[in-house]
Amino acid sequence: MSETSFCVAKQHKARKQHRCHSCNTLIQTGEIYLRVTGKWPENDGIARFSYHSDCRATEETLNRELTEYGEDYATISELLDYNPYDVIPLLPDAVAERFSSQIKKIRTRNPDFCPPDILEIIKAGQGNQLAFTALQIRILQHVAANPEKLTAQQVGHNLKLFGRINHPIGRLIAKKTIRISKDGLLCINPDGLLYIQNALPVH
Ligand SMILES: [Zn+2]
Repeated sequence: MSETSFCVAKQHKARKQHRCHSCNTLIQTGEIYLRVTGKWPENDGIARFSYHSDCRATEETLNRELTEYGEDYATISELLDYNPYDVIPLLPDAVAERFSSQIKKIRTRNPDFCPPDILEIIKAGQGNQLAFTALQIRILQHVAANPEKLTAQQVGHNLKLFGRINHPIGRLIAKKTIRISKDGLLCINPDGLLYIQNALPVH
């Protein structure tokens, strides 16, 4: 039995209606859509799925930011249920529209799902093609407030993020917004500081 996995994504013009595997709404005839063909370890044979291009791009971004990518790939709908606080602010308008009934239910249950200052930083990052989650921003703010004083473990303890801390800190390092000093202490980089300052009142 071969263990080989592969995944190929190609754009096509729809000759008939398809259903998007991410948002479950229809892709209309004539629309450009993404056809993803692949073989994954968990299923036999080759599988093929259709996607709105922006649904697929958003799903991949969210998986990169929120999950150990590839280990437990999740759909946007699953991620919305699992972590609406981080997911809702990262959805582009067109994608959010396709999930509007699910989002409406979440907002009804929790009207203050994301503080305005964190939303500001998320928007600033998106303007530069950088996706920050609300959790990553809380970490960034905490590191900025305690430059070169805290280890990753201490940040996790202070923000009560046991078990979830290594992946978001790794993502922030990959985005060059923070770094770890020789002594294992977290420092904020100028780019990281710039994003945080967007949310601070000007004196
Ligand atoms: Zn879709």
